[in-house]
Amino acid sequence: MTSQARSVATTIEPQRVSDGAGVKLKRSIATATLDYLDPFLLFDHFGSDNPDDYIAGFPMHPHRGIETVTYMHAGVVEHRDSLGHAGSIAAGDVQWMTAGHGILHEEMPQLRGGQLSGFQLWVNLPAKLKLTKPRYQEVAAKRIPEVGRENGVHMRVIAGSVDGVRGAVKEIAADPTYLDVCMPADAVFRQAIPRGHTAFAYVYEGEGQFGVNTKSVGTNVRGPKLVVFTDGDTVEIGAAPAGVKFLLISGQPLHEPVARYGPFVMNTAEEIQQALMDLRNGTFV
Ligand code: MN
Repeated sequence: MTSQARSVATTIEPQRVSDGAGVKLKRSIATATLDYLDPFLLFDHFGSDNPDDYIAGFPMHPHRGIETVTYMHAGVVEHRDSLGHAGSIAAGDVQWMTAGHGILHEEMPQLRGGQLSGFQLWVNLPAKLKLTKPRYQEVAAKRIPEVGRENGVHMRVIAGSVDGVRGAVKEIAADPTYLDVCMPADAVFRQAIPRGHTAFAYVYEGEGQFGVNTKSVGTNVRGPKLVVFTDGDTVEIGAAPAGVKFLLISGQPLHEPVARYGPFVMNTAEEIQQALMDLRNGTFV
């Protein structure tokens, strides 16, 4: 079969929302426009120079049936949970948390340095893993491999494989790719993504042509914006004269029923009721 370049299915304008105890976010998945991009349940971009926008944080709250992926660009988020886990996620670090059958945790941005910038992605778990044992892959910035190409394109490989370099986060059910790509002026970037996998880019800075292929110059996108790709084997992106920076994320869709209620994502309404009951009865974790 010949290789097929993915084109742009749709671009999403992030919505300004407030979550947790009053953290201001730009949300692109889990909105009225894009409720679910199987297997991705939520995508948030948080960032501000003003501590009032983030300091209230996300006090103790539960999760069940999903994975949450936090990737920081600036600032520090302190993390603590019901299993006795505690730590901080700083600039360049990733925390891939599998909530499984249940976690109660808090995520509190710190004042150090003033600035906060980062991303949180929720990845759905297949029905057979929804009640799995909670686990963490916490990867410090210096352990995330970096790949540089001759044309000046530079990326951090959080998950997936690029030019034979394997990402830091491994053995995740969705077989994800998660790259942070930085492209200089007019550079071109091509990356293989398995056919059938859902793929999107989140453009956080600059401008480029997304979904370039032999038939099309692609769709011009200026950040901040989320770009959803059609199916195919590769994505191709061309940077505008000012360059472009984006996250490229893909994963295997589940094609399973979704019952979601806040931080719980199960397959049926009964399983949601069970989660609420467990929380009330103190049997959640
Ligand atoms: Mn959380």
